[in-house]
Amino acid sequence: MKITEINLSSSKSVIYCGVGAFEKYAKQLIGTNAFIVTDSNIYKIYAKLINETFVSTPVYVISAGEKSKNKKTLFNILQAMLEHNLDRDCCVVALGGGVVGDIAGFAASMFMRGVKLIQIPTTLLAQVDSSVGGKTAIDFYGVKNSVGAFYQPFAVIADSLFLKTLPVRELRCGLGEIVKYGALDKDIYNKLFENIKNFSDISFLQSIIFDCIAHKIEVVSADERDVNGVRKTLNAGHTTGHAFELFYGRKSHGEYVLIGMYYELLIAERRGICWGQYPENLKKLICAVVKKIPVYADINKAAILALHDKKNTEGLISIIVPVSEGRVEEVKLSFEEYVKELEYAAMEIQNSYEKS
Ligand code: ADP
Ligand code: ZN
Repeated sequence: MKITEINLSSSKSVIYCGVGAFEKYAKQLIGTNAFIVTDSNIYKIYAKLINETFVSTPVYVISAGEKSKNKKTLFNILQAMLEHNLDRDCCVVALGGGVVGDIAGFAASMFMRGVKLIQIPTTLLAQVDSSVGGKTAIDFYGVKNSVGAFYQPFAVIADSLFLKTLPVRELRCGLGEIVKYGALDKDIYNKLFENIKNFSDISFLQSIIFDCIAHKIEVVSADERDVNGVRKTLNAGHTTGHAFELFYGRKSHGEYVLIGMYYELLIAERRGICWGQYPENLKKLICAVVKKIPVYADINKAAILALHDKKNTEGLISIIVPVSEGRVEEVKLSFEEYVKELEYAAMEIQNSYEKS
């Protein structure tokens, strides 16, 4: 098990990562004045563990799924905290995936103007991504994450114990984001290559989770509030991936990130900023998670959704593309150029299937 810190201008978070972290630290860190938020799927599996670890601590169970990230659920959580007479010294425990982390984190930031927050991420995606970095939010007025706050947890406990019960789709989702880290970090890239056949082994996941968290800490420390561009790199693959996710919406978020990265990699190759063996190797890593990259027919319609990407400026679409081992670059394209590039990429993928 590894312990690391994230030191930011106004706060410090300690991250406990690895097998045994939950058993060793959860009870002690949370104390007796706490409120646990989890979701219905997790509670079904882990009620006994939760109730035996945090004896007589109130547990608030939200319905599983993104739909719960709304203002009604948020205020229900806050109301329940008042009903349980919690005070400003209490601690909110977000025990779950990204949905629980987002809404419980936001509730912690609001209750009594902010109380202690502990994140216990139970999905692979939340362990490598959303539980670190302090972003919390709900979806409001039809817009995802439109209302929220930067609110750093006091501690994050990322224990792979929870991953054993994770559905395959959720595992692939997290792996998608892990391979994305491979494009950002040379050491993660090499480790992924060495383990390309055992991506789903818990022992491999355990060590790569820590590497991804360490990378994210570096990025977040350099750009706590997502303002100076450093944090943008974490968005590699996301412009196109997110547009495909919104338009087609069948696979998991992480898989769409990788599909987006594959298309964006082809764009980088065509524009001559990524070449040689590297893009071929990265494609192999991507295809270790997404077996077959889809060739989309309505690509121009999906592309419209990329117009809303938060990285865009001056009417240009921003994509963060891989260029060489551990390095990505921002490319800005007009909408017309972007659609044309995506269509070329789709054609290239189609051709590669016909050849093989
Ligand atoms: P995210 O992928 O952002 O972490 P969610 O919070 O929606 O998203 O979690 C994804 C799904 O996995 C939800 O249905 C949730 O209930 C379920 N889940 C979360 N953790 C576990 C776990 N350890 N075992 C089984 N299912 C889990
Ligand atoms: Zn993502």
